[in-house]
Amino acid sequence: MDSFEKTMQDSNHHITLPRKHIFAMLSDADVPMGVGDLTAELQTIDRSTVYRTIELFVELGVTKKVWFGNETKFELSDDFQEHHHHLVCEQCGLITKIFNKDLEKILLKTTKKSGYKHLRHQLEIIGLCGSHR
Ligand SMILES: [Zn+2]
Ligand SMILES: [Zn+2]
Repeated sequence: MDSFEKTMQDSNHHITLPRKHIFAMLSDADVPMGVGDLTAELQTIDRSTVYRTIELFVELGVTKKVWFGNETKFELSDDFQEHHHHLVCEQCGLITKIFNKDLEKILLKTTKKSGYKHLRHQLEIIGLCGSHR
């Protein structure tokens, strides 16, 4: 696991209060959050600062984008938490993390078979949760 402080230092970025708070919020949340979600939680930080900070985090590889249908959310990258995928309920938005070693093996095998070098992948399953099926 990388340290946030080290990543910021190595790229010559100061750890400002908003940056510190946004990183902590994403760490604590344990599920992907949208810019709107973050702005609502971090009431003292305005939306454009949240947006700029998240974009910087994506650039530095601290966070990554997660697409749920037409909605983009953000979560800490694989350097800062264990690699996983998500299930999301189309009705209520409930997000559940998926950890599946077999799935990862199949994805890597499929990439290799097609003659590609694997860099990264994205996979989110849109469904209906237990209360909405
Ligand atoms: Zn649901
Ligand atoms: Zn995966």
